Amino acid sequence: MGIMNNSSTDPNKILPMKYKWARQHYKDGVANNWTPEEVGMQKDVEQWKSDSVLSETERRLIMWNLGFFSTAESLTANNIVLAVYRHVTNPECRQYLLRQAFEEAIHTDTFIYCCDTLGLDPDEIYNMYNTIPSIKEKDEFVVDLTKNVFDPNFKTETTEDIQKFVRDLIGYYVIMEGIFFYAGFAMMLALKRQNKMIGIGEQFEFIMRDESVHLAFGCDLINTIKSENPEIWTPEFQEEIIGLMRKAVELESTYARDACPQGLLGINSDQFIKYVEYIADRRFERIGLPKQYKTENPFPWMSSSTDLSKEKNFFETRVTEYQTSGNLDWD
Ligand code: FE
Ligand code: MN
Repeated sequence: MGIMNNSSTDPNKILPMKYKWARQHYKDGVANNWTPEEVGMQKDVEQWKSDSVLSETERRLIMWNLGFFSTAESLTANNIVLAVYRHVTNPECRQYLLRQAFEEAIHTDTFIYCCDTLGLDPDEIYNMYNTIPSIKEKDEFVVDLTKNVFDPNFKTETTEDIQKFVRDLIGYYVIMEGIFFYAGFAMMLALKRQNKMIGIGEQFEFIMRDESVHLAFGCDLINTIKSENPEIWTPEFQEEIIGLMRKAVELESTYARDACPQGLLGINSDQFIKYVEYIADRRFERIGLPKQYKTENPFPWMSSSTDLSKEKNFFETRVTEYQTSGNLDWD
């Protein structure tokens, strides 16, 4: 009995559980419960309204990241509910998917809260995925990669169809949440380290912690489908996936340069690009593919940025305590 569509699976019978990692990710998600309103925005509002605190470069970076994330979160939510949930019938995985869908609603709410408190023009922010080419290209890349799976007649029966489904999972979990989110995370957290827009920065930290669990679940799901259907993992398919992820790194590098052309105090945009390469190598390894860049982490502080006082035993920062699926080398 497998993790995907299977007539012998009763989707309502969650006990006994077969995939304990799915249960652990669910618990990790619950342990990181938060809402955007818990984070005060007064200082951010003062800085945003002041003419002297933020440079034009910093304002551009903030706008680009709000513009990208405001719509990327709902693209991800739609994929979970309309594509992944239909085909992953295993009940403990579905329990996690419901939790993840809730977290995506929280993330969507975060950007509503940011627009409201800073007094941003919603038509501008929520259209940036059409009007800003470096954002549009990222979203279109993922949507193109995954559109087969949205066909109501799509089924995961043949080898080719399972490959299409895995391509969808890689598109959303590994590329969208695992690569396309990370230049933005690094930029907003770098700004926070300079004491700028610390409320939004803290919200990005909460989101990053959620996303790292989404990514971990997605990789466990992908690896389980691979081990249950080993015929899909051909050398050609592996080459295709490597090519797609390398293309994603290019798109993310273009985005990083566009969002932050001059760099930030003490940081140039090449470092954001190196960070994306470093993060992409971790994703390659996590799904059983060779590292492509062997770039060193230019921002070692990123892995400790998620160590909030609210939940200090989180696996991003205490990697050795996190052993549900034997993946101790993860960020
Ligand atoms: Fe999210
Ligand atoms: Mn997510």
